[in-house]
Amino acid sequence: MNCYAFIGIQGSGKGTQAVLLSEYLNYQHINIGDLFRYNIKNNTPMGQTVKAIIQRGELVPDATVFELVRLNVSSDALGIVFDGFPRTIAQAEYLLDHYQLQKVFYLDLSETTAIQRISARRVCQSCGENYNLNSQPPHTKDICDKCGGLLIIRNDDKPDAISKRFAEFYEQTSPLKEFFIKHNLLVNIKAEGTVQDIFDLLKVNLASR
Ligand SMILES: [Zn+2]
Repeated sequence: MNCYAFIGIQGSGKGTQAVLLSEYLNYQHINIGDLFRYNIKNNTPMGQTVKAIIQRGELVPDATVFELVRLNVSSDALGIVFDGFPRTIAQAEYLLDHYQLQKVFYLDLSETTAIQRISARRVCQSCGENYNLNSQPPHTKDICDKCGGLLIIRNDDKPDAISKRFAEFYEQTSPLKEFFIKHNLLVNIKAEGTVQDIFDLLKVNLASR
C-alpha cells in the first residue's frame, strides 16, 4: 500500500498538510497522536497501557505504535498519509518493510516563525475550541465565540515548553532525516508560506502515479 509521511516542527503546519494531502489523494489519514488520545479518552486496553507509559514519562514503545498502526489501517484504503509516524529509526524501517513509502515531506520552518505561529494560538478553557490570533481570531478579544469562555494559552504553547519541544524534535529528527535522505525519500519543503503555498509545493513533489 502506498503511503506518505511528514516530519515537521510544532507550528510547521504538518497536521494541516497531512489532512489536505489525504483528501487530495483520497488516502486514509492516520494521526498517531490522535489515536493515542482517542484510546486514552475511551479507556481502551491500549489506552490504559499507553497512559501508564506516558505517566511514567517514558516513550511509547515501537511495538505498541506498530500495533496501533496495524489496527487502524483499513484494508480497503487506497493509500495512507501518516502524521506523527515514524518517530524513530525502528519505526522508519517498519514503514519501509510494510508499506510502499513514496516520499517523506520535511516541512522546514525556522524556529522564529514557528514560535510566532505557536504564540498566536489560544484555546477556550471551557469548551476547548481552538483559535489563532492571526488566522482565526475570536470576535471579542480573549472570549470564546461559541460559549463565552476565557481564551488561554495552552501549557504546551508557553515559551519554556516550546523550547523543550524544539530540543526534543531536533534530537529525534536528525537521525530520521539522515535515514530518509539515504533512502532517497526525503523532500525538503519550505514551510514559511501560507497553507496553500506549502500545499502547492507538496503537490509538485508527489511521486508520479
Ligand atoms: Zn468556548
